[in-house]
Amino acid sequence: MADASFDVVVIGGGHQGLIAANYMVRNGYTVGLFEQRRELGGGGATESRPISGFLGNPCAHVAGLWASPVNQDFKLHERGLNYIFPPVHASMVFPDGRCIVSYRSIDWDKETGMVVPQPDIIEKNIKEVERISPSDADVMAKLAADGKVWEWGFAAMQVLWNPPALPDEIDPIEALIADPNSGIDRRHQFMSATEYVCDLFESDELRAHSLRMLGSAGIYPDDAAPLPVMLSNVPQQVFGSAAVYTKGALIMPSMPFRGL
Ligand SMILES: Cc1cc2nc3c(=O)[nH]c(=O)nc-3n(C[C@H](O)[C@H](O)[C@H](O)COP(=O)(O)OP(=O)(O)OC[C@H]3O[C@@H](n4cnc5c(N)ncnc54)[C@H](O)[C@@H]3O)c2cc1C
Repeated sequence: MADASFDVVVIGGGHQGLIAANYMVRNGYTVGLFEQRRELGGGGATESRPISGFLGNPCAHVAGLWASPVNQDFKLHERGLNYIFPPVHASMVFPDGRCIVSYRSIDWDKETGMVVPQPDIIEKNIKEVERISPSDADVMAKLAADGKVWEWGFAAMQVLWNPPALPDEIDPIEALIADPNSGIDRRHQFMSATEYVCDLFESDELRAHSLRMLGSAGIYPDDAAPLPVMLSNVPQQVFGSAAVYTKGALIMPSMPFRGL
């Protein structure tokens, strides 16, 4: 092994190292991947935890990027990758006993890799909000009616999942900001999470529900997060754009890579 030579050496067999290495092998490079631990997968490794008889992992438990092109490029579903889509995406209970539930409103066609919105569930989510605040339900209904929320979400995902645009290129979010018909409010780029949700929604309940969703993405109330991060969490998640679980472990998209 000491005198082995490779075109590329990848240090670390975590989720990203495995993906990068597999793309390079696919493009004809010889790749040596070195992992210090006995188990591949890094933060997403499947281990026997928290007690014997169960499988868990050290870090990632929710697969937010389940529609990643990686799945299709390597046909990971044919190698055992399968997701569990919980019917409820998120919920919040308030001190007076009322609650908001955001039902999961998108599905995944694993053959095409496309995300498929479920209009009846979107409608159900708007009705949920209507119980709390008719005016916030109106905001949601308008966003859903002309498909803006999905257009924003798709642009956000393109920015978040791809390498940054080159200096002379306009990324999809910049294009939306420049388009007066996109419905994007330019001021939102400069707001903290709290200012953003207060600008979007009128009720404290929906604001709190939205802030909790941003919190689970690592964005705290005073943070001014990049617009793609805001848009991919709120209003996307209030509409039930889902985080999912990987069958057989908590998150293991990298598991099928082991045999490649
Ligand atoms: C607490 C926590 C919760 C998270 N929850 C989620 C979640 O719910 N959903 C989600 O999608 N993501 C989540 N993440 C993020 C996710 O775990 C990471 O994005 C992902 O693991 C990053 O993959 P990586 O390959 O870059 O690095 P890692 O997964 O950290 O892998 C790095 C690998 O490199 C190895 N290594 C390091 N140094 C060397 C060396 N010198 N020689 C050889 N090997 C080396 C390590 O042993 C490790 O296996 C969470 C992260 C944390 C910390």
